[in-house]
Amino acid sequence: MSTSDNDEPSPDDKAPLWIYVKKIEKQARGGSWRFECKFCSKTYVGSHSRVVTHLLQERVKGIKRCL
Ligand SMILES: [Zn+2]
Repeated sequence: MSTSDNDEPSPDDKAPLWIYVKKIEKQARGGSWRFECKFCSKTYVGSHSRVVTHLLQERVKGIKRCL
């Protein structure tokens, strides 16, 4: 029996929330993106953690939370 199915392919747990926003353009520096939230149609600039913050409101640091 082969019960070695332990390594499930982790579905991009690096940046799963990019699917909820639209990348508009990469910023020149800092690895940030200008992105548009598909829920509130507003644009923000920041890295993926910014998206996470916006969507999940994990820690609100100067970015508006989503609707
Ligand atoms: Zn939003």
